[in-house]
Amino acid sequence: MSDELDLIKRELVVANRVLAFENVIDAYGHVSIRHPHNPNRMLLSWSRSPELVTLDDILEFNLDGSTVGGDPRPPYRERFIHTGVYLARPDVNAVVHAHAEDTLPFGIVDVPLRPVIHSGSFIGLKVPVWDIEDKFGPNTDLLVSDADQGGDLAAKLADANVVLMRGHGFTATASNLVDVVRLAVYLPKNARVQMKAMAMGAPKYLNAGEIGAREGGKYGAKTNVTQRAWTYWATRAGVTDMLPLADFSKGDPNLND
Ligand code: MN
Repeated sequence: MSDELDLIKRELVVANRVLAFENVIDAYGHVSIRHPHNPNRMLLSWSRSPELVTLDDILEFNLDGSTVGGDPRPPYRERFIHTGVYLARPDVNAVVHAHAEDTLPFGIVDVPLRPVIHSGSFIGLKVPVWDIEDKFGPNTDLLVSDADQGGDLAAKLADANVVLMRGHGFTATASNLVDVVRLAVYLPKNARVQMKAMAMGAPKYLNAGEIGAREGGKYGAKTNVTQRAWTYWATRAGVTDMLPLADFSKGDPNLND
């Protein structure tokens, strides 16, 4: 294994542990990245709870959902969420699927989930809701079980960052792993604040200008402000030994907040 690939797999282990520790994911849910050397493949654990994932658990998959190299360990049944998104969205390189409870109400009532706090800006302006019943009828078990369903979910996601899945959970996407973890961590927090606010009155949402102001390089994965969060989460999750030694302390002071 090349050093670079090893490093990337280590970050994927960190992502698994962080999402588990921050209660975004429990026994179920998963996080993947597109393979850095082959856009037609992805890296994802075999069917193991994210809190338990180690370097050896990360497998390589083709985008038809098959494992590369015929590893005998069982894959996540819902890997087609990830393959569907990677096939439909060449700009997406990292995907999180989870069932975080606070996001679920927005999938079953006609109230859009929208950014209400600054750290929720990465959710984006619109969050579509995918209802598996629309195309696949009333007798599914709600899980994304094949390429057809994964493709349909990705079509509903369209060019958004997040899609909610009725009665099930959410799928979050980003151009890189750190961004998608941040998005997945703040999504339930934003949902909680929005629900609390709606119990009190009509919330004031972030406007398009405020959302746009936080996109792009200012909060990019390699900035100090973002690495600060990444190392914080990794430390809480007990996996700092998996991170490369990087010093972002001499970065642009304007990138701190
Ligand atoms: Mn699921």
